[in-house]
Amino acid sequence: MSTNANHVKMLILGSGPAGLSAALYAARAELAPVLLTGSQLGGQAALTYTIENYPGFPEGVGGAQLGELFQKQAEHFGTRVEFDTANKVDLSARPFKVETDAGEYEADTLVVTTGADPVHLNVPGEDTLLGRGVSYCATCDGAFFKDKKVVVVGGGDSALEETLFLTRYATSIAIIHRRDELRAGAILQKRAKDHPKISFIWNTVVTEILGTGKVESVRLKNTQTGEQSIFETDGIFIFIGHTPNTQLFAGQLKMDARGYIEADMQMQTSVPGVFAAGEAADPHFRQVVTSAGMGAAAAIQATRFLEAESG
Ligand code: NAP
Repeated sequence: MSTNANHVKMLILGSGPAGLSAALYAARAELAPVLLTGSQLGGQAALTYTIENYPGFPEGVGGAQLGELFQKQAEHFGTRVEFDTANKVDLSARPFKVETDAGEYEADTLVVTTGADPVHLNVPGEDTLLGRGVSYCATCDGAFFKDKKVVVVGGGDSALEETLFLTRYATSIAIIHRRDELRAGAILQKRAKDHPKISFIWNTVVTEILGTGKVESVRLKNTQTGEQSIFETDGIFIFIGHTPNTQLFAGQLKMDARGYIEADMQMQTSVPGVFAAGEAADPHFRQVVTSAGMGAAAAIQATRFLEAESG
């Protein structure tokens, strides 16, 4: 670490609802926080077309729009938002040291809100046809499938929510689920089952994505009978869960077997002064409102931590 490192009272890694809420609270506590956005400004929420369950927006709000409002509010109170990504951290002593694409920081407290990324199916064709019909984000890529036929893999809230979004564009959407019962909540299930463009292929997994230059079909396998078939499609959207973006902290912060950072009710991690919030530390709720709440709690606790230290 060079002597040119920026020294800050609080460094926040990630610009999703958790990071921006932590920034708001820390800024209002006059900690002059610096927030590094990471590569995906606004986090996963910004990729969501409409968020209907964030309180205060009875008609729903665009994910990107909500992210912009969060950012504006955090900046209004003095947060410095940097379009930069951390790529190395040293949490062995305070101040914590963080190397980024653009420079170096020393931070008295660190708030980790690095979020999560979609899980891949890990089948042949998935990587080679990425962006050529394979997608993990309907809001980002749905418009490319106007008047086309697509499949969605997964049976959770994400799969159904994104499928309903795809009905704006696609002529038909087949949801492929490995069981014969959906995991998603009742409201989404009803909306999907009632929609004329949506059909279900039960007890089935995708074993291969086929196509020359673009997706043309998927190979399916029935989980009950083992029977294989080819299903023609122009695209495949995969929503089978997430993995936390926490590799940066491996060996330094305590994590569970899946890589979620372990934090207590005060958002305190295994290293005093390092707090974690949002999906990097939450395999359970994954909501904008819960992530925002965790971010606020992390900042409040970090403020108390610094106050206790200064007597
Ligand atoms: P999820 O609830 O974990 O669902 C993942 C789905 O993918 C499950 O149906 C699972 O099947 C299936 N799956 C997992 N691995 C698979 C594989 N290798 N091959 C085929 N299928 C596979 O994930 P999620 O939908 O992303 O939701 C995560 C959390 O966020 C949940 O708590 C959810 O409630 C929340 N969420 C909420 C909203 C909302 O409230 N509007 C929106 C999005 C997400 P099984 O069912 O057989 O396990």
